Amino acid sequence: MRLFEAIIDANHRAVAGDQNAGLHPADFANELPVVALTCIDVRLNALLPEVLGVPKDQFIWLRNAGNIITGPLSSTMRSLALACAVKGGKEIAIIGHTDCQVGKTTTMALIDQFRALGVERHLLPANVNEFFGMFASERANVIKAVDVVRQSPLIGPKIPVHGLLVDIETGKVEWLVNGYQTLDTVATRMTAVLTSAGHTLDALKSLTDFEIGGIKFPETKIGETVTRAEDWLSGKIHELEVKPPPAAEPAAPPGSSVLRATYESWRRGKEREKAKSTVPPKIAAPPPLRPKLRFQKGRK
Ligand SMILES: [Zn+2]
Repeated sequence: MRLFEAIIDANHRAVAGDQNAGLHPADFANELPVVALTCIDVRLNALLPEVLGVPKDQFIWLRNAGNIITGPLSSTMRSLALACAVKGGKEIAIIGHTDCQVGKTTTMALIDQFRALGVERHLLPANVNEFFGMFASERANVIKAVDVVRQSPLIGPKIPVHGLLVDIETGKVEWLVNGYQTLDTVATRMTAVLTSAGHTLDALKSLTDFEIGGIKFPETKIGETVTRAEDWLSGKIHELEVKPPPAAEPAAPPGSSVLRATYESWRRGKEREKAKSTVPPKIAAPPPLRPKLRFQKGRK
């Protein structure tokens, strides 16, 4: 069983009331630490990383409003990449949550809230929705973020990228994108992007001194690099996506397996919900699960 399979399994058993559910970090020494991107919602403070059973010191925690990734070379991507390259992160999880206010706030409400803070409408970007990354679906937002991370040249093909959704009430974790399954298609996808761009990595380097292979990040230039290179790369990736796939590529669009897997898991979830009709038991909060206690027992 791989790390996130064990995490999901332990989480579901714990939510179902299994007192012995927990993770044995020693079994996953090669897959820890994990890198997680979550929302800034304070209700997550009591949930993570406890409901995953991952020890705090093996949980590299990045946060932004709505766990949004705006592009393959955005500021958050930079942090995710360094979390792997410098801090040794082995797997990435984008963890959305239910009842996310970034998904619930309307444009009009947001404008009103800014006005109450003394920020008038004309001071905000023209497209408020797009700028702040407001989204309609928490699930779709996670899937999109996973896709962007997966496409980013900064994340090596060996790093699984998972998409999860945590229920803010129960702590139950739903696996939206299985990063182990999509890992297989990554090499194909990366090659496609790079080939279509012709000389992506060289071009990136010529824009700046940014070295993607090594860990030579000239400190004063990172922000600059990211901004300039991102537009360029986003454009390339966009071009690739609107074009019909070249003959060498699989017939299905590269993202479809992710969506299919996600849809499948969503559909199965719905069926399970229908079958059960009972609400999953609430765990006393906070924290809802205490796998840490069980770490001390250990199996080994
Ligand atoms: Zn949120």
